[in-house]
Parts: sequence; C-alpha cells; structure tokens
Amino acid sequence: MKKFGEKKVSTECDFYTKASSLVENKIKELRANTPNLPFEKTKIAEVEINKFFYEGKTVERVMIVLRSNGCQHYKTNGGCSMCAHLNGAPLTEKITHQNYVEQWNSVLDGSFVENVGSTFDLNNYPVVCVYNLGSLLNPEEISVETVKYIFETLNKYKGVKKVIIESRAEYVTDDILSVISSAYDGLVEVGIGVESTNFLIRELCHHKAIDDTRIIEDSVKNLHKFGMKALAYVNFKPIFLTESEAIEDAIKTSIDCFKEFGFDAVSIEPTSLQDNSLANYLYNLGFYRVPWLWSLRDIIHGIYNEINFEKLDIRLGGYFDEEVLSGSQGTGFADRNEIFPHMTSSNCSHCTNEFVYAIKQFNMTYDVKELDNVKDCQHCYNLWQDTKRIRDSRDIIRRIQDILRKE
Ligand code: SF4
Ligand SMILES: [Zn+2]
Repeated sequence: MKKFGEKKVSTECDFYTKASSLVENKIKELRANTPNLPFEKTKIAEVEINKFFYEGKTVERVMIVLRSNGCQHYKTNGGCSMCAHLNGAPLTEKITHQNYVEQWNSVLDGSFVENVGSTFDLNNYPVVCVYNLGSLLNPEEISVETVKYIFETLNKYKGVKKVIIESRAEYVTDDILSVISSAYDGLVEVGIGVESTNFLIRELCHHKAIDDTRIIEDSVKNLHKFGMKALAYVNFKPIFLTESEAIEDAIKTSIDCFKEFGFDAVSIEPTSLQDNSLANYLYNLGFYRVPWLWSLRDIIHGIYNEINFEKLDIRLGGYFDEEVLSGSQGTGFADRNEIFPHMTSSNCSHCTNEFVYAIKQFNMTYDVKELDNVKDCQHCYNLWQDTKRIRDSRDIIRRIQDILRKE
C-alpha cells in the first residue's frame, strides 16, 4: 500500500486539513442524532460470560460493562468513525463515583443477575474484563477513586487471575498505573486502540486523534514498567479502504504492534455497524461494506508468516461464545440494545455461521487450523476473491473529497 506511504504527512498540509475537517464535521453532524436515553445510573450496562484462551487453555471470562459517562474523544471531537458507543451513555447526566460503586457492588454480590435461578460468583472467572465504553484510565470519564475501589475489591477474589481494561494510550500514565498496582496484586492487561500504524489511515479513516505513535509506544513502556500487559486493538477495514488495502493494513499494523511497539497481544477488531457512526452512514449510501470473514484468515496467516506464531497472542475481537447474564448487548438483545451493531463482518448467508463458529473455536484455542478447515463456499468465495482484486487509484484524501465534499 505504498501510495498511503510511510512518509509523514504534515498536519499543516492544506489538503490533509480539509479532508480531516470533512471527516470530523460529518461525524459531528451524525452524532447530533445520538438519543438521550434515560439510563439507570446505578445499573450495570452489561455482564456477559464467554470462553477465552488463557495460559494454554480455554477458560471462562466475564465481561462487565459499566454504564458510564462515555468517551471523551467522542464528546470532544466526535470520536472514531466506526464507533457509536456514546449511544449507550447518558448525554446530560453524570455517572458519579457513588453510582459506579453501586453498579460495581451489584457485580460483587451477584444482585445484577436478571435470569431467575442463576447465581454469580466472580471467583469462578479467571479472566475479568471491566469496560466503560471509553477509557477506564481517564479521570475525566471515571474518577481515580472509583478505579481504586474497583481494583481494591477485585483483590479479594483470588479466583480472578487477570483483569482486562481499556484505555486510549494518552491516559496510560504512571500516576494511574501506580494507583492500580498498589491496589491490586493480580495481572492487569490494558487494551489500547491503535487501529492502524499508518498515519493517514489512522487519522483520516479512523479519526483516531493520535497523530504521533510515540504516545502509543510510551503507553506500552509504562505498562511494562508496572508489570502489566499491553493489548493492541487493530480495527480491520476502516471506511475509505478497499478490502485488500484493509487486509494489508491490518497485517502490517499487527506486526508493528508486536515488533515495533512491544505489545503482548493483538486483537483484530472487524468493523461492525452501529447507528450514528460514519461507517454506518457510508454503508447506507453504498460507499462501504463490512469486512469479509474470509479476509480474517488472510490476516492471521499474513501475521504468522512474519512472526513465529508459537509466541503470538492474537484474538479476533467480537466473536466469543457468550451468555448474557444481564444487560442489553449480545445476541438476541437487539431490540433493547443501544450499542448493538446491526451488522457485523460477514460472508454470505450460507457460510457466515460456519465461519463465525470457526472464529470462536480459534479464539478458544489459537489454532489457525480452525480457520483453515472452513471449506470454500460455492456461493461467495469467488466473489470475495474478486472483491480483493478491486483497486482504487485515488489516494485517501481524494476519496474523502469525492464522498464527503459539499460543493
Ligand atoms: S473507539 Fe474508543 S476512542 Fe474511539 S470513540 Fe470509541 S470509545 Fe472513543
Ligand atoms: Zn458463502
């Protein structure tokens, strides 16, 4: 993908600035439709159980999503082009420390569980994810006091071996990491949205607002200094790219994350469509298709070809065998789910389920044969290969001008 180049594009460049404004303005325009829903501030947004690969075996993981104040990048700059998590946050009210504590206590005592007869004990889950649909390390979104409370209480659950949280890179600071490491003895992994290591793709296609990857490198170093793990999120197939450009970018970005930045793990996140996102808007206009699942196999092999796969921790995000204990996300909950993607990456109706099953198996075992064993689909495999041959001679700035420019 040479035309997007490794050369630094100056953010002072007129064409770049105009393209960036076109993207940001359109995102902000779409965000104006975000509904102001009456969320219960003391009720957890979601708790889900799924299967996860940890220390060489399949274990149960619990994913806890706090009803939260939402991502600051989203509120300030409109957020990333593929994300509409603010749909799940209160727009005018603030979730306070006390609200978060009530939510969290409902997890600790199991009172959040909606299914009659089900019980819940955090100690049964070796891996616990605590997400806030934004950055758990940003004190503007969730206070240091709250984060400290969560980790101090987690410390009493010795069945929990690893806690996974998420944050934008700029909030991974010594201050907050030292609070966590004083409060908690177990292993902590922080998921950081890298999306792409290509400047133009990250800033224009993702609208990530990380114009210098040294911020990412520093965040990984900080985590390692505190004995924590760094997980990179790599978005697969942002808007404005062809399928083959997106495959190439996901492979390169993943390799960079391991080799250049020193991440311990990479999660490839195929784009899905949520209401009020720019990706969704372009899909509705016919300018975007969600990624093909076949392409994920190319990406995994592309990475393995470059790095000794025995040592790699690679996940395919969004596809885990799940059971929703409470909340409004997940399969079967679309009608009451404010952040539910109405479309996820897919092949055709004949083979998508089989491929999704293979991805879930891969995520439980990290065995690439699970993906290789899916037979070519007579209905769509050739179409996908044709899709990969599509070329676009325009650079990204030109594509943005063509699609978003108002004359
Ligand atoms: S992807 Fe992360 S950083 Fe981007 S808008 Fe969504 S929550 Fe914020
Ligand atoms: Zn098919």
